[in-house]
Amino acid sequence: MIPGKVRNYIKNNFKEGRVACLTGAGISAESGIPTFRGKGGLWERYDPQIYANAPGLISILRTHPEELVNFIVDFYSILLKAHPNLAHRALAVLEKENILSSTITQNIDGLHQQAESQNVIELHGNAFRIRCIQCSQLVVLEKDKLREMIESFKINKNSYIKILKVLSRYFPRCAICGSRYRIDIVLFGEILPADELSRAYKHLNNCDVLLLIGSSLIVYPAAGLPLYAKERGAKIIEINNEPSSLSDLCDYIITGRASEVLPEILGVLGYA
Ligand code: NAD
Ligand code: ZN
Repeated sequence: MIPGKVRNYIKNNFKEGRVACLTGAGISAESGIPTFRGKGGLWERYDPQIYANAPGLISILRTHPEELVNFIVDFYSILLKAHPNLAHRALAVLEKENILSSTITQNIDGLHQQAESQNVIELHGNAFRIRCIQCSQLVVLEKDKLREMIESFKINKNSYIKILKVLSRYFPRCAICGSRYRIDIVLFGEILPADELSRAYKHLNNCDVLLLIGSSLIVYPAAGLPLYAKERGAKIIEINNEPSSLSDLCDYIITGRASEVLPEILGVLGYA
């Protein structure tokens, strides 16, 4: 599936610590998590202008709380069911073999860490974490606790007061400063975490090759990172089953599913 010219490039240029990658929703599609723009997914049922945006979520809580509950239940049910696929696992192997310096991801599903990648840079946060809105203290949302939250929502979804109670149990007040916790993901219109972004730039300054995997590269500022890397001399390889908005910028394109292409790259490098 990988064209001969690209295979040769990979063989000769994937040097120790000199490869970075930027992943998007497409890498997790085969783990059962719908992409943002793909057909038939969560985002066809729930308008992202409402459900992926803080003012939208607050207003839906006030006007249609049971709809917000349906969304939270559907959202976490999908994430809780997902397991890393061969693409996540292949990236973890490339990191372990010291080829891949870092996995920069726009995903919020935690699947790179589940696949045992260590150096993961989460540009858009992680749905399995909550963050204090005042002091930024982070707390991990354990999966069992989330399952318990889903069950509590299911039995309390017809009462606004009970919904608020469940919300405040799982998104409590911060023990340090007393402010409220919220989900630690970057919603529409919010800025990216500065420390994660600067870690990403650091890796892009030091890579020879950037792999773009399963992203439409429409969402900025993440979509600006490939250009940043290219301006600093990196070669760009896209792995996607369709062209992205930055395909023209790429030096090499591998058309196919991430879960097939990445294991094939391991084979080319002799790690399969
Ligand atoms: P997107 O939905 O805009 O684009 C997905 C891309 O993946 C498309 O280019 C598509 O052609 C490609 N693709 C689909 N299946 C693939 C496969 N099996 N192998 C390779 N490529 C495949 O996703 P995006 O660019 O990541 O932007 C969406 C935003 O929404 C991100 O910011 C992300 O934070 C968020 N999001 C995250 C998740 C997640 O955490 N898994 C899921 C949906 C959305
Ligand atoms: Zn706090």
